[in-house]
Amino acid sequence: MSEPYTVGILTVSDTASVDSSVDKSGPLIKSILSDTQKYSVSQQTIVNDEIHAIQNTITSWSELNLIIITGGTGFSPRDVTPEAVKPLLTKETPGITHLLLSSSIAITPFAALSRPITGIRNKTMIITLPGSPKACQENMDAVLKVLPHALDLLLDRSVKKFHTKIQQGGVDVSSGAAGTNGTHGTNDAIGGGGGGHTCTHKHDVEGDASQTGQSASLDTPVARRLRASPYPLIHVDKALKIVAEQAKVLNVINVPVSQFLPGYVLAENVVAIEPVPGYRASVVDGYAIHFEDGPGVYQVESISLAQQASCQPLTRGKIARVATGGMVPEGANAVIMVEDTKLVREQGNEELEVEILVSSVENQNIRGVGSDCPVGQLVGRRGQRIGTELGTLASVGVRHVKAYRKPRVGILSSGNEVLDHMHTDELKPGQIRDTNRITLLAAVAASGFEAVDLGIVDDDVDEIFERLEEAVAKVDVLITTGGVSMGEADFMKPILEQKMQATIHFGRVLMKPGKPTTFATIPQGKRASKLVFALPGNPVSATVAFHLFVLPALRRMAGWEKPEHALIPVKIQHDIALDTRPEYHRVFVHIENGNLMASSTGNQQSSRLMSMVEANGLLQLPMRTPDIAVLSKGISVPCILIGSLTK
Ligand code: AMP
Ligand code: MG
Repeated sequence: MSEPYTVGILTVSDTASVDSSVDKSGPLIKSILSDTQKYSVSQQTIVNDEIHAIQNTITSWSELNLIIITGGTGFSPRDVTPEAVKPLLTKETPGITHLLLSSSIAITPFAALSRPITGIRNKTMIITLPGSPKACQENMDAVLKVLPHALDLLLDRSVKKFHTKIQQGGVDVSSGAAGTNGTHGTNDAIGGGGGGHTCTHKHDVEGDASQTGQSASLDTPVARRLRASPYPLIHVDKALKIVAEQAKVLNVINVPVSQFLPGYVLAENVVAIEPVPGYRASVVDGYAIHFEDGPGVYQVESISLAQQASCQPLTRGKIARVATGGMVPEGANAVIMVEDTKLVREQGNEELEVEILVSSVENQNIRGVGSDCPVGQLVGRRGQRIGTELGTLASVGVRHVKAYRKPRVGILSSGNEVLDHMHTDELKPGQIRDTNRITLLAAVAASGFEAVDLGIVDDDVDEIFERLEEAVAKVDVLITTGGVSMGEADFMKPILEQKMQATIHFGRVLMKPGKPTTFATIPQGKRASKLVFALPGNPVSATVAFHLFVLPALRRMAGWEKPEHALIPVKIQHDIALDTRPEYHRVFVHIENGNLMASSTGNQQSSRLMSMVEANGLLQLPMRTPDIAVLSKGISVPCILIGSLTK
């Protein structure tokens, strides 16, 4: 028998939290669970009806397989258990909630006044039961039938074995689950779990039990391939969050202050090591004077030009010619601009006497030492992304800075039909030119990151494996295109999983284009994991998925403080029909009468690369609902800018 599931029982009750002897339901649940060998109750506590108390307990029990909560699910103002639990769930399990309600309602209609919530938090199943011991008993009777199978699926325990069986032609769920008796012959059937009903799961719903998040074995013959993706279709926001969690800031390196520094993010505060100016400098072309001498005719004593290293002190009652930026001689305490003087006497080309026409104040037209930037002044902030203001660093003597390394990004195309775009022979039927590789190489480079061309690989398991292994050794991030859909030659996911020991974090995203977008990480021992974005082959899908998912990850790795895309509201210039999936609609955004206006680039089919031409924005369109099928002209829609607003 496999290891027992670890369980925590939480009683939520103001009264029981003061006097634990009042709690009947908690001990009852424990005794029900103890009747079988399948569960081990390792935690049990009582808290009052407070959201934070409930949440603190749940989050501190993150290692448990199952948390059963009793109490706080009713209608009284103090009942807040569902409100505490819901935000902590990563997935809701409405089927189990329904099971709880329906089993109790069958006994009494008053069970409708319970507000149970059930769901999954990472690897923990959470179930809320009413406070009354009777209702707990009824609910436990119902839910215990499905719990072992639910937990096995969640914990990935017997699931692989289970699914292999299914591929081989049917399995009786009752053998794998607790006491259910439905007979299920297809992959669709998994997780239905009860009462002999025929399951008709919709595969696109996240949480569908057939979505194991694992591909079929690479040895599976085509006739036995899965006919529905085993990867749950997740929302874009969730996918972005997953990528953000995996994309870690890279190591710190020393970067010279040069024209190649812009784009790096400082990993340290940088201070001025030299003052600017380093000497007292004149602001104007003119004459250095003692301001106390006032207007009058003076003998010109010496010359100081900007490039002169030093000059003699100025004698009292005399003046000295200085140029803009030139050093003001010692003793002088103001500079009069040449326009406020008159030549009185000359010899040859030399000025002998000059009349100062105006009076001045101390330090007039003199930049003191360090007046622009003193030594120790902060000239670069940790986390600041360097732009063309790097001259500041240069001016204060900073020659190297510590910055976060920028990711190296490899790009590999895949597909037997894909040929290098420079191929000179006429294409044979079925062949296409590789557009993804140059597009993505250009996009990576244009975004300021290092792009590595990894060529094209055939749809061949061994070849792909070899090329992926080579690639992973060379880069921080690998982008592949093609081979992630449902075709017989779509090997990317199973190779990553079964040969590269990658973790596939998601294999499908609810979006258009780019639904098969796949994200995986490959562990590297103590070193940072390599990130793999296995993008769909369709050129538009690959490009949109790059902008949406890859670019923010690259920025995050390079240390950007806000790597996410900014969403800018733009007004649409014509009606746009909504799709059944949230869509990233390519648009041209421009400014008209002070407004940002967006017009579609036309047919948005994911193979039609023309829809990217001149596109500088991705409109974030919501999915169609029964109420809203079209967004009307003039409506404001959030947009990701992927290009310049100016032409
Ligand atoms: P796949 O994701 O491999 O099923 O490919 C989906 C579609 O994208 C097919 O029509 C492929 O021919 C096309 N495709 C795949 N890779 C590329 C590429 N590198 N450049 C252009 N089109 C591609
Ligand atoms: Mg392909």
